Parts: sequence; C-alpha cells; structure tokens
Amino acid sequence: MEATILVVNAGSSSLKFAVWPDRGTHNAAILRGQISGIGRVPWFRVRNGDGDLLVDEAWVQSGDAAHGLVPALIDRIERQTGGTAIVAAGHRVVHGGTRFASPVVVDETVMRDLEDLVPLAPLHQPHNLAAIHALAATHPGLPQVACFDTAFHNGHADVADRFALPRALHDAGIRRYGFHGLSYEYVTRALVRLAPDLARGRVVIAHLGSGASLCAVHNGKSIDSTMGFTALDGLPMGTRSGALDAGVLLHLLELGQDHDSLEHLLYHESGMLGVSGGISNDMRDLLASNQPEAAQAVDLFVYRVVREIASLAAAMGGVDGVVFTAGIGESSALIRDRVCRGCAWLGIELDAEANLRRDGRITTRGSRPSAWVIPTDEEQMIAQHTVEALGGVKEICYA
Ligand code: AMP
Repeated sequence: MEATILVVNAGSSSLKFAVWPDRGTHNAAILRGQISGIGRVPWFRVRNGDGDLLVDEAWVQSGDAAHGLVPALIDRIERQTGGTAIVAAGHRVVHGGTRFASPVVVDETVMRDLEDLVPLAPLHQPHNLAAIHALAATHPGLPQVACFDTAFHNGHADVADRFALPRALHDAGIRRYGFHGLSYEYVTRALVRLAPDLARGRVVIAHLGSGASLCAVHNGKSIDSTMGFTALDGLPMGTRSGALDAGVLLHLLELGQDHDSLEHLLYHESGMLGVSGGISNDMRDLLASNQPEAAQAVDLFVYRVVREIASLAAAMGGVDGVVFTAGIGESSALIRDRVCRGCAWLGIELDAEANLRRDGRITTRGSRPSAWVIPTDEEQMIAQHTVEALGGVKEICYA
C-alpha cells in the first residue's frame, strides 16, 4: 500500500486537497481536488497528477471542516486510489503570528497558540484549525504539520512591519505580517532552478489571483509585501478592497455601519466586484465585458499593481526581475502586458511572443529587469514542508 501525505487547505466555503507520495515531493501529486460550495451545494472535483478529471459530482455527505468533512474525504481518497495509506497531513494555516517562523508539527500547545491568533485572521484561521482538530479526533496518531502563510515574511526589518501607531499596539501584535507566503516560497525556490543569478538578486513576485499581493524578495528572503495585518491590505482583489484610508472606516462607522457589515463590505463586496458595479469578481468576465465599469475595475487593478511594484522596488533599492504567478498572473497575457508596459520606465521590455506562453521568461534578452511567469504550487510546498518537518515520514502511524 502506497504511503502518502494529505495536504489540506480548508476555507469557509471550499476545502482544497492534494495527495502526494510521502517521499520525493518533487514528483507529481497523485491526486488534487476540492470540495467547493460547502454550506450551500457541495461539489467534489478530483484530478490525477496529469490533470485529467477523475471525479466531478455532487458531494453528498453533510458537514464542514469542523464536522466530519475531512475524515469523509480521507475515506473517499482511499477508495479513489484503490487503497493508499495516509501517513501524515500538512495544513495551510493562514496565521503563524510572530511565534511560528517555520512549519511546525502540531500538538496541544501549538494548537492553543494558533487558536490565540484567530482574532488576527477570523475568516480563515478557524477553518484551518477546524480541519486539524477534526483529523486529530478521528486519526489520533496521525502526525499533522501546520504550514503558515505568514512564515515566509518573518524576519522583515522593523520599518517594513511597523504601523505608525502607539508602540503598545505593535507589541500587542498589531503590525504587518504579510500573506501568500507558501506561494512566494514555492516561486522563490523555483526561481533558483530557473534563473539562479536572478534568484540572488532583487525580485518582485506578483501573486495575482482572486486574492492578490506582491512580495519583494532579495536573495531568497522576503523584504516586504503589500499585504499587512490582514489579507485585506494592498492590491484591490476579486472581492476585497485592498488598502484603504482608515478614515473611510471611521466615516462609515459614523454613518451607522457596524463590524459585521463593514467586514462583509470589505471582504465580499469590494475589489473588482464592487468597482465593476457587480459585473464580476472574475478577471476573465471583466476582460470579456464591454461595460465601462468592467474596464474601470481592470484599469484600477493594473494601476495599483504597477504602482506597488515600484514601491517594492524602492524598498529593495532597485529591481532585477518581476515574476507573475497565480490565476491572473499565470493565465492573462493581457494583464501581464499592461503591467509590464506600466513598468517600461523601470527598463522592462516585454517579448510579445514569449508573453503568450504560460511559463518562463517573457521579456527580451536585453530587458533589465527581466520578467517571468512561474506557476505556483502551494500544495507542493506544504507537502514538502510536511515531509521536512517530520524528518521523512517512515511508517503508517494511525489506526
Ligand atoms: P486563483 O485565486 O489563483 O485561483 O486565481 C483565480 C482568478 O484567476 C480568477 O478569479 C480569474 O479572475 C483569474 N483567471 C484565471 N484564468 C484567467 C485568464 N485566462 N485570464 C484572466 N484571468 C484569469
């Protein structure tokens, strides 16, 4: 029976998963999939390592990450693979705070510390932790590793992470953390293989998906990022506002909005969806639309990406390369084209033909800085961290 690692990325309405051989996570995943529409109409989709669709059907069991979903998924995976032995689980956990600068094997003390961080990521952390709790209850001996979106950013200079607020608030954890760290770490490692000289230099990585942020990476280390205290900061996203003058919130509070309505506004009704007047949060729909509001949303997105690339270049004292990743970054040649044109003054010169490809270098030979597309793989990063944190998984540990 093949020993495997289960990777879990549990969110409020979807649970993404992948199954990797427990050795050699450089190999392809055995399965990847997700249960989407949790709490509404759950749907189960699974692909094999080559990307072929194996399952595309309603998910009939009830429950969410806290109530039975993960054990039911394991049963299903075991049947799907005709018998696999899951020997460890790696979880995406959004917030590791200042304590967790690297992946950690979960025990009761770690779980208590992670629960303390729930107020810093109320929309994500509870679901991440619920999946760990659920597995601990049904598979008590199964080693579980928490991999953090914040960890890659640990070690920023104080100026990068400090808000201009009274010191006591900073000391209480109100400071910038940065997110999408697993994606940035994967891309950074991939860049070492693809362009080792550039990997030692100053790179802005643009993770442009339904959540979007930029990260300044110098010699493989995160220097700064557009996301801060929460995953709301920085670029406008699918439905999230991105950076906002805090005075806007004070004004809305004065007009009678409360915490819950503001949270809904900022996380679910803003960004591309809000600016387009409700047309869509999906970049594909906006690019296909001929409505002026859709064009305005795309213009704003591109404008902010260009502006923030320059801001991060300033943080590093220059930039040697820009890397595009995630849904929009990997798939939209048009957005890359517009962003690179906006950065022409920095010296970026796009190779139009290369830009039509989905990975590799997309600028001319002479372009300084260069620009690249590197598809991200957060699940692979989690699988790799899980094996590393457990020192190589040797045996089947749960009944
Ligand atoms: P992610 O969150 O990384 O899965 O990215 C999801 C987003 O990528 C979607 O909301 C789309 O807006 C965007 N996307 C995917 N494919 C394309 C494409 N071909 N052109 C433009 N945007 C795309």
